[in-house]
Amino acid sequence: MTDCLFCKIVVKEIPAEIVYETDRTLAFRDINPQAPMHVLVIPKAHHADAAALAQADDGLADDVLKSAHAVATQEGVAEGGYRVVFNTGPGAGQTVFHVHAHVLGGRALSWPPG
Ligand code: 5GP
Ligand code: ZN
Repeated sequence: MTDCLFCKIVVKEIPAEIVYETDRTLAFRDINPQAPMHVLVIPKAHHADAAALAQADDGLADDVLKSAHAVATQEGVAEGGYRVVFNTGPGAGQTVFHVHAHVLGGRALSWPPG
């Protein structure tokens, strides 16, 4: 999608601090981190949200989840605990409509979130 911010990050048209990459996923640091470790994991293919990704039916959702957990391990938060969040829809605070998993860790995380 030509007007999608995260598609532009995939093709390196917009810079990002990439921390992990597979053939079908990309992980980069959130520009406005909410925890000491805050990485976004996206499929390189454009899907608007987690619901669309779930319907893709080609194992891509599985790849995104596996990449999220690989990032947590690589970033050293896997043992201490971390959170994986998909804000889905405007009512849940989604602002970028290219599906992304927030991977957050490195501090104590309260529950429930606001
Ligand atoms: P959402 O609100 O859609 O769940 O999350 C979007 C996330 O994308 C936010 O946490 C926001 O800080 C992050 N973000 C927005 N624009 C950029 C950008 O240009 N680069 C990076 N690395 N993150 C961004
Ligand atoms: Zn996109």
